[in-house]
Amino acid sequence: MKYKRILLKLSGEALMGDNQYGIDAGRIEQYAREIRLIKDEGIEIAIVIGGGNIYRGVDAERTGIDRVQGDYMGMLATVINAMALQSILEKNGMYTRLMSGIKMEQVCEPFIKRKAVRHLEKGRIVIFGAGIGNPYFTTDSTASLRAIEMQADVVLKGTRVDGVYTADPEKNADATKYTTLSFQEAYEKGLKIMDMTAFTLCQENDLPIIVFNMNKSGNLLSIVKGEEVGTLIK
Ligand code: UDP
Repeated sequence: MKYKRILLKLSGEALMGDNQYGIDAGRIEQYAREIRLIKDEGIEIAIVIGGGNIYRGVDAERTGIDRVQGDYMGMLATVINAMALQSILEKNGMYTRLMSGIKMEQVCEPFIKRKAVRHLEKGRIVIFGAGIGNPYFTTDSTASLRAIEMQADVVLKGTRVDGVYTADPEKNADATKYTTLSFQEAYEKGLKIMDMTAFTLCQENDLPIIVFNMNKSGNLLSIVKGEEVGTLIK
């Protein structure tokens, strides 16, 4: 296996499937199956999940809600997704721990770096909920930060497209996919891979990112085996 410890970033929006809101049963089951495939290979797995299917801090101001308050609401949304994912992973026979950036003792452990590493070493899948626990950050930044803290080999950003393209492939038929990119190239070309905070954290810490299509069965397994799937930014 090329990668032994990975951090998988899943967006909240992806969990909606074809719905407009919430969690799609088929989609979350599929994710569990993909994750199971790499778990069976002994890969150590940390997961950060977003909350965009439920709430985003940037939407707050539109409704008169204070931005910081909205960000905390967004963080709570990620915990809802994390709890759903935890449940489905366990149903599929995996051992998990949910660690939160905001203390909520009844439903999850608080994030403690050393404990999180220990869970990974023991083969438990660690899901990080509530982002970093601070407003004005995103779950992409959380993914980068936790990956660095866990000394993960790579951040795997699961999306619904096959990788990073020259233009939006859903809007532009001529768009072509990059196989590899340097951080510098991605920056100069203005390619949106992660927000700048997340992107810079990876760049400064030599942490590669792979953007790939999580909805294609077998992709995740192919990546950890070292096959060329998606776009590698390094
Ligand atoms: N959020 C935050 N701090 C964090 C992580 C998340 O304030 O460390 C809030 C932010 O408002 C964000 C929301 O939680 O909009 C949901 O996360 P995100 O938008 O990253 O989810 P995704 O787009 O991946 O579904």
